[in-house]
Amino acid sequence: MNFEREVESRFKCPKCGGNSCRVEKIAVTGAGITRLLDLQTNVFYAVVCENCGYTELYSKNVIDGKGDRIMDILDVIFG
Ligand SMILES: [Zn+2]
Repeated sequence: MNFEREVESRFKCPKCGGNSCRVEKIAVTGAGITRLLDLQTNVFYAVVCENCGYTELYSKNVIDGKGDRIMDILDVIFG
C-alpha cells in the first residue's frame, strides 16, 4: 500500500475540484516542552493541489498505522 501513489491517483481537490496533486513529506518539530527536550518530530504527508495550492496534512504515524485499511480512509476522503 503506497499512500502517496493512491492519493495522487484518487485526488480531488475539495476547493477547486482539480484532480492533480503532489504529495510531499514534511517534518514538524513539536512546540513548547517537547521542542526543548527534542522528544519527537512529527512527520506529515502534505497533499498539495497543483491547481490552487490548497494543502491537506495527514499524520504519517496514523497513516502508516492503518496498513491496508488506508483504502477505507481514502474512500471516505475522496469518495
Ligand atoms: Zn485545488
